Amino acid sequence: MDASEQQSTVNPDQRFRRPRTPVVIPDRVARRAATAYVVVGECWVSTYSVGSHGYAQIGWDVGEGRRRATTAHRAAWVHFTGAQIPTGMTVDHLCKTRKCVNPAHLRVLTNFENARRTAGRDWPVGECVHGHPNTGLTHRGSKLVCATCSAEWERRYRAKRKAA
Ligand SMILES: [Zn+2]
Ligand SMILES: [Zn+2]
Repeated sequence: MDASEQQSTVNPDQRFRRPRTPVVIPDRVARRAATAYVVVGECWVSTYSVGSHGYAQIGWDVGEGRRRATTAHRAAWVHFTGAQIPTGMTVDHLCKTRKCVNPAHLRVLTNFENARRTAGRDWPVGECVHGHPNTGLTHRGSKLVCATCSAEWERRYRAKRKAA
């Protein structure tokens, strides 16, 4: 893998950041990712090499000597659904096998939901840790947070200030 490929790979540590427009994955790349695997139990384990993030990755030329890269499971999802991954969404593994490209094991989550899942608990999808629906997410600095929780923090902060 060369340096440019490394750079354009989605960094899992950036998941709380403001969503960037995802790389458009060409059909031919998506097809390659969706067909290069070995069956291991229920999983279709990609034969693409694994990056430092633990996910199989696939790269392609975009001309003028430039390369793009994404993960095999993202590309496979694009192939099986026929759609690009929406901005701010991540393709999550229900099976927790990072190299798996079986479409039955893949689902899209918002980056917000996925980050909380990988933080160690499988929170209910569509809700914050306090059970508020994720329809009202808001930015607090560069972080995405629950708008209801955020309003609650503000209210408590103001009440504390008043009491002091
Ligand atoms: Zn799987
Ligand atoms: Zn909340």
